[in-house]
Amino acid sequence: MQNSHEQVALRSVIRRFIAEEVDPNAQEWERRGAFPAHEVFRRMAELGLTGVSKPVEYGGLGLDFSWEVLVAEELGHCSIGALPMAFGVQTCMGTPALARFGSDELRREFLAPVIAGDYVAAVAVSEPQAGSDVAGLKCKAVRDGGEYVVTGTKMWITNALQADFFCVLANTSDEPSHRNKSMFIVPAKQRGIAVSKPLDKLGMRSSETSEIVFDGVRVPASFMVGEEGEGFRNQMVQFQDERLYVAATTLRAMERCIDTTADYCRERMIFGSSVLGNQAVQFRLAELQVDVEALRSLVYRATDAYVAGEDVTLLATMAKLKAGRLARVVTDSCLQYWGGMGFMWDNPVSRYYRDLRLLSIGGGSDETMLQVIAKMKGFGSRR
Ligand SMILES: Cc1cc2nc3c(=O)[nH]c(=O)nc-3n(C[C@H](O)[C@H](O)[C@H](O)COP(=O)(O)OP(=O)(O)OC[C@H]3O[C@@H](n4cnc5c(N)ncnc54)[C@H](O)[C@@H]3O)c2cc1C
Repeated sequence: MQNSHEQVALRSVIRRFIAEEVDPNAQEWERRGAFPAHEVFRRMAELGLTGVSKPVEYGGLGLDFSWEVLVAEELGHCSIGALPMAFGVQTCMGTPALARFGSDELRREFLAPVIAGDYVAAVAVSEPQAGSDVAGLKCKAVRDGGEYVVTGTKMWITNALQADFFCVLANTSDEPSHRNKSMFIVPAKQRGIAVSKPLDKLGMRSSETSEIVFDGVRVPASFMVGEEGEGFRNQMVQFQDERLYVAATTLRAMERCIDTTADYCRERMIFGSSVLGNQAVQFRLAELQVDVEALRSLVYRATDAYVAGEDVTLLATMAKLKAGRLARVVTDSCLQYWGGMGFMWDNPVSRYYRDLRLLSIGGGSDETMLQVIAKMKGFGSRR
């Protein structure tokens, strides 16, 4: 991935936005358990962040996916993981399939307002009994004349309470589980939708997560994204964007964690010298920085291949796995050097420790990533 003059400029725009408009409010949003998504996303739209790789016909900038990765990487500067995650739902988790496979009418009605910052999007795939096992989900959409009737329960849905629409995966036939699913845009104002109050989470506190019950919710047949029966495949394509985005957001977050820890350890005196005066501490932080840089190379390599038109399911899955694992190591190692201060709720590293823990679970657990990698490498098959 190159860093052109424009890309360097965009990086500094995002850093200024975070320093002036996100971090000063972050503590209050975390305490409240929510941030004002419409207000913040509208501002991000003004900065040109909401549609960097989306088609120009709908207000996007029509750039390649490396720009989404750049945005994700810079958003990792936020002192909270919640905003980069919720914003990622808006750009790289809940709308990529709509942008690629949606009809012109659907894109005008739902994608354009997302890019303009007027609509908040959510993606509703997971269910109480089907998180890792996406193929086994139970939500169904039954055709009735010119409409589909959606019934089922979705679980762990980010942005649900503030969303204007949900990108829903539902069963539309009795075909085998990879061919019986279709994707729909379901407007949040439709009758029959109940969204729970926010779930009480370990981290990502200011990103609201809810359960949604769809009870006979009617949507026009034209709100289907892509072809009937293609929903599972389209969601797998959408996951490529999600995994690259998620992996990219961890890079700066981990570096900020390492740098903040180095700063603290430089000042903290023990036995007459600073904690950072110990070579063991310096070496550990150096090792962690090397690992972050190696992950960055993997993310950039996957992104380059993606931009070149390759299927990067394998590389994106590897990057997501590695990001989740490394985030656990980095945050845990750094927290240790803060002593009791690291155990305090509002400590910046303890927040990263809680927020980034999600990476090994959300968007598919580490084990799900390993399952995909093992399958693609043919490790389960006989010679
Ligand atoms: C804060 C948060 C936000 C989320 N946001 C969204 C969202 O916006 N939209 C959405 O659709 N979903 C969302 N999710 C759901 C998320 O994608 C799922 O939690 C995830 O896919 C895991 O599913 P599960 O929780 O049902 O765990 P389960 O499927 O019950 O799995 C439990 C554990 O079993 C283990 N496991 C799984 N498969 C294997 C295997 N093959 N071999 C060995 N062990 C295995 C793993 O350790 C896994 O963590 C969110 C989740 C959280 C916590």
